[in-house]
Amino acid sequence: MQSKLTKLRKGILEVIKDSKKPLSAKAILNLSSFKMDLSTIYRALNFLEEQRYIYSLSFSGVKFYFESKKGNGHFLICSECHKILEFENCVALGLQKKMKEEYGYEIASHILLFKGLCPKCQDYLNRKRESMG
Ligand SMILES: [Zn+2]
Ligand SMILES: [Zn+2]
Repeated sequence: MQSKLTKLRKGILEVIKDSKKPLSAKAILNLSSFKMDLSTIYRALNFLEEQRYIYSLSFSGVKFYFESKKGNGHFLICSECHKILEFENCVALGLQKKMKEEYGYEIASHILLFKGLCPKCQDYLNRKRESMG
């Protein structure tokens, strides 16, 4: 059974739900209407994660939290500016089946994280290269 949510935890969960992308604890703090310090928010996030209201992924030493019904997540992340996009299209279901056949794992969920350069950073780096050229 899931434990009851306090007002604070509920508020944090709402912020994460409303976001279209995974958020760091600092970003959640900025978006939230609650006044709290980082250790309070980390405690709440740990609780929400343990209770499987939210899930997380780590990138460059920063933990990003997102909401998902089954724990699945599909993201593009820019290695320069750390901009994250979520995409809806699940490309993993066939792969999941294959994993089961090949390794015998019963797959419960998946997180797809594609790393690269966002259009803005590609532009920026191209221009920088040209000006140096
Ligand atoms: Zn970028
Ligand atoms: Zn998927």
